[in-house]
Amino acid sequence: MNYYGPREILKDGKPTGLYHYTRRNDNQVWPVGLCVDCPGHKTKEEACEHWRQYLIQGIEFVEITQEWPKEKCEVDGCNNQAIMIGSTKNEPGRFIHRCFCEEHATQEEMSKFIHAGESISSY
Ligand SMILES: [Zn+2]
Ligand SMILES: [Zn+2]
Repeated sequence: MNYYGPREILKDGKPTGLYHYTRRNDNQVWPVGLCVDCPGHKTKEEACEHWRQYLIQGIEFVEITQEWPKEKCEVDGCNNQAIMIGSTKNEPGRFIHRCFCEEHATQEEMSKFIHAGESISSY
């Protein structure tokens, strides 16, 4: 199992007061996403936001085929038939899927459905 979440960066086993968004597996911890190349963040929230930016960079859309049930667009107040599925290829396990009409199948609308926090993934 992989455990994703913000964690304090340790240097020689000592806390540094800085956080990375990380993956933990078998007591090993790695920075992930954009945190691979960043010096760290002063708060857990900033580390989560950095991960969120990474997820947003991976947003992609696919056209709905017959395999998907007919859905309405998931944007508030929109009643159009959905024709595209949005997801982010940077999400481990790729659990986030949202339906959009043609007008709302944009990175901006999809990014409103992307939140970053603690998560557990078997991927
Ligand atoms: Zn970072
Ligand atoms: Zn719509």
